[in-house]
Amino acid sequence: MRILDKFAHFPIVLVGPSGTGKTTIYKLLLNKNTMIKYSVSATTREPRNGEIDKKDYYFLSKTTFQDWIKAGKFCEWAKVYKDFYGTPKEPVTQYLNEGYHVLLDLDSRGAKSIKKIYSQAVCIFILPPSISELKDRLLKRGQDSAKVIEHRLKDVDKELKKIKEFDYIVVNKSVEAVVDKIQAIITAEKCKTKRL
Ligand code: 5GP
Repeated sequence: MRILDKFAHFPIVLVGPSGTGKTTIYKLLLNKNTMIKYSVSATTREPRNGEIDKKDYYFLSKTTFQDWIKAGKFCEWAKVYKDFYGTPKEPVTQYLNEGYHVLLDLDSRGAKSIKKIYSQAVCIFILPPSISELKDRLLKRGQDSAKVIEHRLKDVDKELKKIKEFDYIVVNKSVEAVVDKIQAIITAEKCKTKRL
């Protein structure tokens, strides 16, 4: 790797309340930009309808998750709601070494941890157009119980308090527009003096 390339490939961290549309956003982004690889997280939560093991998440038992922590397999992990979520270390390192950007879908604590490890990471907060729209989306998705939705909405306030720590904020009015903005952010970041 040339010295100039050292910070040219960076992790891109998407954070935002559950129901903001991050999954749809990252899937479209991956289709449009082949230089981005997705970091599949591990979780102890139950798979939702249509979610595939090792593609959407590594669905692990609590015991296996603890074993992975002990074995140092995560670059960060956190308890979100009542379940554990973690970023496997190896693929992130491998993709960056191969010259890709790595896309991570994390909570704000995860973003902070990644930034500590990879100072070149770019953290983007995805905002829903409004809290009432977010509530509508969570209800329409129909994949979480009323209790879980209530919990998730309560957590929105906590996440919003940390918004100033992020490099960029993008409001999700339309998925295509968000993806275009993220592509523009990547292009601008690659030209930043500090990366050259
Ligand atoms: P969900 O259960 O809706 O897929 O995810 C719940 C929350 O956990 C979301 O905010 C998501 O971004 C976050 N999350 C998913 N994977 C990870 C991870 O590996 N680490 C951390 N810290 N948060 C994660």
